[in-house]
Amino acid sequence: MDRIPVAGPWITQKEIDYVTDAVTHAWYGSHNIYHERFERAFADYLGVKYAVALPSCTSAIHLALLAFGLGPGDEVIVPDITWIATAAPIDYVNATPVFADIDTETWCISAEAFEVCITPRTKAVIPVDLYGGMPDMDAICTIAQRHGIAIIEDAAEAIGSNYHGLRAGSLGDVGVFSFHGSKTLTTGEGGMLVTDREDIFRRVLFLRDHGRKPGDVQFYNTEVAYKYKMSSMQAALGLAQLERVEELLQRKREIFEWYQNALAGVTGLTLNAEPAGTHNSYWMVTVILDPQLGLGKERLIKMLSEKGIDSRPFFYPLSSLPAYAGLAQIQEMQERNRCSYTISPFGVNLPSALNLTRAQVQHICTTLKEYCASAI
Ligand SMILES: *Cc1c(COP(=O)(O)O)cnc(C)c1O
Repeated sequence: MDRIPVAGPWITQKEIDYVTDAVTHAWYGSHNIYHERFERAFADYLGVKYAVALPSCTSAIHLALLAFGLGPGDEVIVPDITWIATAAPIDYVNATPVFADIDTETWCISAEAFEVCITPRTKAVIPVDLYGGMPDMDAICTIAQRHGIAIIEDAAEAIGSNYHGLRAGSLGDVGVFSFHGSKTLTTGEGGMLVTDREDIFRRVLFLRDHGRKPGDVQFYNTEVAYKYKMSSMQAALGLAQLERVEELLQRKREIFEWYQNALAGVTGLTLNAEPAGTHNSYWMVTVILDPQLGLGKERLIKMLSEKGIDSRPFFYPLSSLPAYAGLAQIQEMQERNRCSYTISPFGVNLPSALNLTRAQVQHICTTLKEYCASAI
Protein backbone atom coordinates (compact mmCIF):
# COMPACT_ATOMS: atom_id res chain seq x y z
CA MET A 1 0.00 0.00 0.00
CA ASP A 2 1.20 3.52 -0.83
CA ARG A 3 2.00 5.86 2.03
CA ILE A 4 -0.68 8.41 2.86
CA PRO A 5 0.80 11.86 2.21
CA VAL A 6 0.22 14.70 4.67
CA ALA A 7 -0.56 17.29 1.97
CA GLY A 8 -0.82 17.58 -1.78
CA PRO A 9 -2.73 19.18 -4.66
CA TRP A 10 -5.70 18.34 -6.86
CA ILE A 11 -4.66 18.80 -10.48
CA THR A 12 -7.11 18.26 -13.37
CA GLN A 13 -6.98 18.56 -17.16
CA LYS A 14 -7.87 22.27 -16.80
CA GLU A 15 -4.57 22.99 -15.04
CA ILE A 16 -2.65 20.98 -17.63
CA ASP A 17 -4.41 22.81 -20.48
CA TYR A 18 -3.73 26.28 -19.02
CA VAL A 19 -0.05 25.55 -18.34
CA THR A 20 0.32 24.03 -21.82
CA ASP A 21 -1.22 27.15 -23.30
CA ALA A 22 1.09 29.39 -21.26
CA VAL A 23 4.23 27.54 -22.27
CA THR A 24 3.07 27.61 -25.89
CA HIS A 25 1.76 31.17 -26.19
CA ALA A 26 2.73 33.37 -23.23
CA TRP A 27 5.87 34.85 -24.79
CA TYR A 28 6.83 38.06 -26.60
CA GLY A 29 4.05 40.64 -26.39
CA SER A 30 1.84 38.10 -24.60
CA HIS A 31 4.27 37.21 -21.81
CA ASN A 32 2.06 38.79 -19.16
CA ILE A 33 -1.38 37.50 -20.16
CA TYR A 34 -1.66 34.87 -17.44
CA HIS A 35 -0.29 37.14 -14.70
CA GLU A 36 -2.90 39.76 -15.55
CA ARG A 37 -5.76 37.25 -15.53
CA PHE A 38 -4.60 35.53 -12.34
CA GLU A 39 -4.03 38.79 -10.44
CA ARG A 40 -7.36 40.29 -11.54
CA ALA A 41 -9.32 37.13 -10.70
CA PHE A 42 -7.54 36.82 -7.35
CA ALA A 43 -8.25 40.44 -6.36
CA ASP A 44 -11.90 40.00 -7.36
CA TYR A 45 -12.18 36.76 -5.41
CA LEU A 46 -10.88 38.47 -2.26
CA GLY A 47 -12.79 41.70 -2.80
CA VAL A 48 -9.65 43.87 -2.81
CA LYS A 49 -8.29 46.40 -5.29
CA TYR A 50 -4.79 45.09 -6.01
CA ALA A 51 -3.05 41.73 -6.23
CA VAL A 52 0.59 41.09 -7.18
CA ALA A 53 1.75 37.58 -8.10
CA LEU A 54 5.13 36.72 -6.54
CA PRO A 55 7.53 33.76 -6.34
CA SER A 56 6.53 32.92 -2.74
CA CYS A 57 4.69 34.10 0.33
CA THR A 58 8.06 34.71 1.97
CA SER A 59 8.89 37.28 -0.73
CA ALA A 60 5.42 38.83 -0.29
CA ILE A 61 6.08 39.39 3.43
CA HIS A 62 9.55 40.76 2.65
CA LEU A 63 8.09 43.26 0.16
CA ALA A 64 5.29 44.25 2.56
CA LEU A 65 7.82 45.05 5.30
CA LEU A 66 9.93 47.05 2.84
CA ALA A 67 6.87 48.90 1.53
CA PHE A 68 6.03 49.99 5.07
CA GLY A 69 9.59 51.26 5.36
CA LEU A 70 10.65 48.94 8.16
CA GLY A 71 14.27 48.73 9.19
CA PRO A 72 16.74 48.59 12.09
CA GLY A 73 15.23 49.47 15.48
CA ASP A 74 11.66 48.64 14.40
CA GLU A 75 9.75 45.78 16.03
CA VAL A 76 7.26 43.46 14.32
CA ILE A 77 4.93 41.27 16.36
CA VAL A 78 4.20 37.75 15.11
CA PRO A 79 2.55 34.76 16.79
CA ASP A 80 4.99 32.38 18.46
CA ILE A 81 3.24 29.50 16.64
CA THR A 82 3.64 29.73 12.87
CA TRP A 83 5.92 28.63 10.04
CA ILE A 84 9.23 30.52 10.23
CA ALA A 85 8.46 32.16 6.86
CA THR A 86 6.14 34.57 8.71
CA ALA A 87 9.04 35.88 10.79
CA ALA A 88 12.22 35.39 8.74
CA PRO A 89 11.66 38.45 6.49
CA ILE A 90 11.72 40.65 9.61
CA ASP A 91 15.43 39.77 9.85
CA TYR A 92 15.89 40.41 6.10
CA VAL A 93 15.06 44.10 6.74
CA ASN A 94 17.11 44.13 9.98
CA ALA A 95 14.07 44.77 12.14
CA THR A 96 13.33 42.76 15.32
CA PRO A 97 10.72 40.00 15.66
CA VAL A 98 8.64 39.86 18.85
CA PHE A 99 6.80 36.60 19.50
CA ALA A 100 3.31 36.87 20.98
CA ASP A 101 1.32 34.04 22.56
CA ILE A 102 -1.56 32.29 20.82
CA ASP A 103 -5.20 31.88 21.78
CA THR A 104 -6.21 28.51 23.28
CA GLU A 105 -9.20 28.04 21.01
CA THR A 106 -8.11 29.35 17.58
CA TRP A 107 -4.35 28.67 18.00
CA CYS A 108 -3.87 32.07 16.28
CA ILE A 109 -2.29 35.16 17.84
CA SER A 110 -4.21 36.29 20.93
CA ALA A 111 -5.35 39.92 20.81
CA GLU A 112 -4.41 40.39 24.47
CA ALA A 113 -0.95 38.92 23.95
CA PHE A 114 -0.47 41.20 20.93
CA GLU A 115 -1.29 44.26 23.02
CA VAL A 116 1.12 43.19 25.78
CA CYS A 117 3.97 43.06 23.21
CA ILE A 118 3.47 46.61 21.91
CA THR A 119 6.28 49.11 22.58
CA PRO A 120 7.01 52.56 21.08
CA ARG A 121 9.13 50.71 18.47
CA THR A 122 6.31 48.43 17.23
CA LYS A 123 5.61 49.20 13.56
CA ALA A 124 3.72 46.15 12.30
CA VAL A 125 1.92 42.99 13.35
CA ILE A 126 1.60 39.83 11.25
CA PRO A 127 -1.42 37.82 12.42
CA VAL A 128 -1.46 34.31 10.90
CA ASP A 129 -4.64 32.45 9.90
CA LEU A 130 -3.21 29.21 11.26
CA TYR A 131 -4.21 25.99 9.47
CA GLY A 132 -7.20 27.89 7.99
CA GLY A 133 -8.48 29.22 11.33
CA MET A 134 -9.06 32.91 12.02
CA PRO A 135 -7.73 35.08 14.88
CA ASP A 136 -9.97 37.66 16.57
CA MET A 137 -9.35 40.22 13.83
CA ASP A 138 -11.86 42.80 15.17
CA ALA A 139 -9.89 43.12 18.41
CA ILE A 140 -6.52 43.00 16.63
CA CYS A 141 -7.52 45.75 14.15
CA THR A 142 -8.85 47.96 16.95
CA ILE A 143 -5.63 47.64 18.95
CA ALA A 144 -3.43 48.12 15.87
CA GLN A 145 -5.34 51.22 14.82
CA ARG A 146 -5.10 52.75 18.28
CA HIS A 147 -1.29 52.37 18.19
CA GLY A 148 -0.76 53.19 14.51
CA ILE A 149 0.54 49.68 13.74
CA ALA A 150 0.37 48.25 10.20
CA ILE A 151 -1.33 44.86 9.79
CA ILE A 152 0.11 42.29 7.37
CA GLU A 153 -2.31 39.34 7.41
CA ASP A 154 -0.51 36.07 6.70
CA ALA A 155 -3.27 34.10 4.98
CA ALA A 156 -0.84 31.58 3.46
CA GLU A 157 -2.83 28.72 4.97
CA ALA A 158 -6.29 30.22 4.68
CA ILE A 159 -7.50 30.86 1.15
CA GLY A 160 -11.30 30.62 1.30
CA SER A 161 -11.58 31.14 5.07
CA ASN A 162 -13.57 34.11 6.21
CA TYR A 163 -14.26 36.32 9.18
CA HIS A 164 -17.69 37.95 9.54
CA GLY A 165 -18.20 37.65 5.79
CA LEU A 166 -14.78 39.06 4.83
CA ARG A 167 -12.26 36.84 3.09
CA ALA A 168 -9.07 35.81 4.85
CA GLY A 169 -6.27 37.99 3.51
CA SER A 170 -8.51 41.04 3.06
CA LEU A 171 -8.63 42.08 6.72
CA GLY A 172 -5.35 43.96 7.15
CA ASP A 173 -3.48 46.71 5.30
CA VAL A 174 -1.81 43.96 3.29
CA GLY A 175 -2.63 40.27 2.90
CA VAL A 176 -0.20 37.57 1.77
CA PHE A 177 -0.74 34.09 0.36
CA SER A 178 1.38 31.04 -0.46
CA PHE A 179 0.83 28.68 -3.39
CA HIS A 180 3.43 26.17 -2.25
CA GLY A 181 2.67 22.57 -3.27
CA SER A 182 1.25 21.77 0.15
CA LYS A 183 -1.27 24.61 0.15
CA THR A 184 -4.97 24.37 -0.83
CA LEU A 185 -4.44 26.34 -4.05
CA THR A 186 -1.04 25.70 -5.57
CA THR A 187 1.27 26.90 -8.34
CA GLY A 188 4.08 24.56 -7.21
CA GLU A 189 5.90 27.51 -5.66
CA GLY A 190 4.33 30.94 -5.60
CA GLY A 191 2.70 33.69 -3.62
CA MET A 192 0.45 36.75 -3.79
CA LEU A 193 0.35 40.11 -2.07
CA VAL A 194 -3.00 41.88 -1.89
CA THR A 195 -3.94 45.36 -0.71
CA ASP A 196 -6.46 48.15 -1.10
CA ARG A 197 -3.74 50.78 -0.68
CA GLU A 198 -2.50 52.23 -3.93
CA ASP A 199 0.71 53.62 -2.35
CA ILE A 200 1.69 50.16 -1.07
CA PHE A 201 0.76 48.53 -4.37
CA ARG A 202 2.92 50.98 -6.37
CA ARG A 203 5.85 50.60 -4.00
CA VAL A 204 5.64 46.78 -4.17
CA LEU A 205 5.65 46.85 -8.00
CA PHE A 206 8.72 49.08 -7.89
CA LEU A 207 10.62 47.04 -5.29
CA ARG A 208 9.96 43.68 -6.88
CA ASP A 209 11.35 44.78 -10.26
CA HIS A 210 14.87 45.97 -9.41
CA GLY A 211 13.77 49.44 -8.37
CA ARG A 212 12.16 50.67 -11.54
CA LYS A 213 8.64 51.89 -12.12
CA PRO A 214 6.37 49.94 -14.50
CA GLY A 215 6.66 51.48 -17.95
CA ASP A 216 9.71 53.57 -16.94
CA VAL A 217 12.73 54.31 -19.10
CA GLN A 218 14.35 50.95 -19.90
CA PHE A 219 17.25 49.82 -17.72
CA TYR A 220 17.01 52.95 -15.59
CA ASN A 221 16.97 51.99 -11.92
CA THR A 222 16.40 54.58 -9.22
CA GLU A 223 17.05 52.25 -6.23
CA VAL A 224 18.77 48.92 -5.61
CA ALA A 225 15.88 46.54 -4.99
CA TYR A 226 14.75 42.97 -5.67
CA LYS A 227 13.69 40.59 -8.42
CA TYR A 228 10.56 38.81 -7.26
CA LYS A 229 8.46 37.55 -10.13
CA MET A 230 6.27 34.57 -10.85
CA SER A 231 6.55 32.74 -14.20
CA SER A 232 3.71 32.59 -16.75
CA MET A 233 3.43 28.83 -16.29
CA GLN A 234 2.86 29.29 -12.57
CA ALA A 235 0.33 32.09 -13.16
CA ALA A 236 -1.57 29.84 -15.60
CA LEU A 237 -1.62 27.03 -13.04
CA GLY A 238 -2.82 29.47 -10.39
CA LEU A 239 -5.60 30.78 -12.61
CA ALA A 240 -6.87 27.26 -13.33
CA GLN A 241 -6.78 26.42 -9.61
CA LEU A 242 -8.57 29.66 -8.71
CA GLU A 243 -11.34 28.87 -11.22
CA ARG A 244 -11.77 25.61 -9.28
CA VAL A 245 -11.35 27.12 -5.81
CA GLU A 246 -14.87 26.31 -4.59
CA GLU A 247 -14.32 22.67 -5.50
CA LEU A 248 -10.96 22.62 -3.69
CA LEU A 249 -12.47 24.23 -0.59
CA GLN A 250 -15.45 21.90 -0.56
CA ARG A 251 -13.11 18.93 -0.58
CA LYS A 252 -11.13 20.37 2.35
CA ARG A 253 -14.30 20.72 4.41
CA GLU A 254 -15.42 17.25 3.41
CA ILE A 255 -12.09 15.79 4.59
CA PHE A 256 -12.49 17.62 7.90
CA GLU A 257 -16.01 16.19 8.31
CA TRP A 258 -14.73 12.66 7.67
CA TYR A 259 -12.30 13.09 10.56
CA GLN A 260 -14.88 14.75 12.76
CA ASN A 261 -17.33 11.89 12.26
CA ALA A 262 -14.74 9.16 12.68
CA LEU A 263 -13.45 10.71 15.91
CA ALA A 264 -16.82 11.69 17.41
CA GLY A 265 -17.08 10.53 21.00
CA VAL A 266 -13.33 9.94 21.42
CA THR A 267 -12.32 11.83 24.54
CA GLY A 268 -9.05 13.68 24.90
CA LEU A 269 -8.85 14.94 21.30
CA THR A 270 -9.47 18.49 20.07
CA LEU A 271 -9.74 19.35 16.38
CA ASN A 272 -9.52 22.76 14.61
CA ALA A 273 -11.97 25.37 15.91
CA GLU A 274 -14.49 27.40 13.95
CA PRO A 275 -15.75 30.14 16.30
CA ALA A 276 -19.11 31.81 15.53
CA GLY A 277 -18.84 34.31 12.68
CA THR A 278 -15.85 32.57 11.10
CA HIS A 279 -15.50 30.03 8.32
CA ASN A 280 -12.51 27.69 8.52
CA SER A 281 -11.11 26.35 5.24
CA TYR A 282 -9.32 23.57 7.18
CA TRP A 283 -6.04 23.61 5.29
CA MET A 284 -4.62 21.07 7.74
CA VAL A 285 -6.79 18.90 9.95
CA THR A 286 -5.03 19.17 13.29
CA VAL A 287 -5.51 17.23 16.49
CA ILE A 288 -4.42 18.30 19.96
CA LEU A 289 -4.07 15.44 22.45
CA ASP A 290 -5.21 16.15 25.97
CA PRO A 291 -1.98 16.51 28.02
CA GLN A 292 -3.68 14.26 30.62
CA LEU A 293 -3.18 11.33 28.24
CA GLY A 294 0.54 11.79 28.72
CA LEU A 295 1.20 11.19 25.01
CA GLY A 296 3.38 13.61 23.06
CA LYS A 297 3.30 14.51 19.37
CA GLU A 298 6.62 12.90 18.42
CA ARG A 299 5.47 9.43 19.51
CA LEU A 300 2.19 9.77 17.66
CA ILE A 301 3.97 10.89 14.48
CA LYS A 302 6.25 7.85 14.73
CA MET A 303 3.37 5.46 15.31
CA LEU A 304 1.40 6.88 12.38
CA SER A 305 4.50 6.62 10.20
CA GLU A 306 4.90 2.93 11.06
CA LYS A 307 1.37 2.44 9.70
CA GLY A 308 2.22 4.23 6.44
CA ILE A 309 0.70 7.55 7.47
CA ASP A 310 2.63 10.80 7.08
CA SER A 311 1.85 13.62 9.52
CA ARG A 312 3.51 16.78 10.82
CA PRO A 313 4.20 18.22 14.24
CA PHE A 314 2.19 21.26 15.31
CA PHE A 315 4.66 24.15 14.88
CA TYR A 316 7.30 24.46 17.60
CA PRO A 317 7.18 27.90 19.23
CA LEU A 318 9.53 30.12 17.19
CA SER A 319 11.00 31.33 20.49
CA SER A 320 12.09 27.74 21.20
CA LEU A 321 14.05 27.32 17.95
CA PRO A 322 17.86 27.49 17.75
CA ALA A 323 17.36 30.00 14.92
CA TYR A 324 16.22 32.59 17.47
CA ALA A 325 18.43 31.61 20.41
CA GLY A 326 20.46 34.81 20.06
CA LEU A 327 17.48 37.16 20.13
CA ALA A 328 17.43 39.63 23.02
CA GLN A 329 14.66 38.88 25.52
CA ILE A 330 14.12 35.39 24.12
CA GLN A 331 13.89 33.95 27.61
CA GLU A 332 11.10 36.35 28.60
CA MET A 333 9.15 35.32 25.51
CA GLN A 334 9.62 31.63 26.30
CA GLU A 335 8.31 32.17 29.81
CA ARG A 336 5.48 34.47 28.77
CA ASN A 337 3.96 32.43 25.91
CA ARG A 338 2.35 29.76 28.09
CA CYS A 339 -0.36 28.75 25.67
CA SER A 340 2.09 28.19 22.79
CA TYR A 341 4.29 26.01 24.99
CA THR A 342 1.32 24.11 26.47
CA ILE A 343 -0.32 23.19 23.15
CA SER A 344 2.64 22.65 20.83
CA PRO A 345 3.97 19.39 22.39
CA PHE A 346 0.57 17.72 21.93
CA GLY A 347 -0.44 18.82 18.41
CA VAL A 348 -0.22 16.88 15.15
CA ASN A 349 -1.30 17.81 11.60
CA LEU A 350 -3.11 14.81 10.12
CA PRO A 351 -3.12 13.95 6.41
CA SER A 352 -5.16 16.57 4.57
CA ALA A 353 -4.09 16.09 0.96
CA LEU A 354 -6.77 16.84 -1.61
CA ASN A 355 -6.56 13.29 -3.01
CA LEU A 356 -7.27 11.68 0.37
CA THR A 357 -10.04 9.05 0.46
CA ARG A 358 -12.61 8.37 3.16
CA ALA A 359 -11.16 4.87 3.62
CA GLN A 360 -7.75 6.38 4.30
CA VAL A 361 -9.26 8.71 6.89
CA GLN A 362 -10.89 5.68 8.57
CA HIS A 363 -7.51 3.94 8.72
CA ILE A 364 -5.85 7.05 10.18
CA CYS A 365 -8.57 7.49 12.81
CA THR A 366 -8.43 3.82 13.83
CA THR A 367 -4.69 4.20 14.39
CA LEU A 368 -5.23 7.41 16.32
CA LYS A 369 -7.83 5.76 18.56
CA GLU A 370 -5.44 2.88 19.26
CA TYR A 371 -2.84 5.45 20.27
CA CYS A 372 -5.21 7.17 22.69
CA ALA A 373 -6.29 3.82 24.15
CA SER A 374 -2.65 2.96 24.83
CA ALA A 375 -2.64 5.75 27.40
CA ILE A 376 -5.07 3.96 29.70
C1 LIG B 1 3.54 28.22 3.71
C2 LIG B 1 3.58 29.40 4.61
C3 LIG B 1 4.36 30.54 4.35
C4 LIG B 1 5.43 30.58 3.29
O1 LIG B 1 5.04 30.39 2.04
P1 LIG B 1 6.15 30.24 0.87
O2 LIG B 1 5.32 30.38 -0.35
O3 LIG B 1 6.74 28.88 1.04
O4 LIG B 1 7.14 31.31 1.03
C5 LIG B 1 4.24 31.65 5.16
N1 LIG B 1 3.43 31.64 6.22
C6 LIG B 1 2.69 30.57 6.54
C7 LIG B 1 1.80 30.65 7.74
C8 LIG B 1 2.77 29.41 5.77
O5 LIG B 1 2.06 28.33 6.13
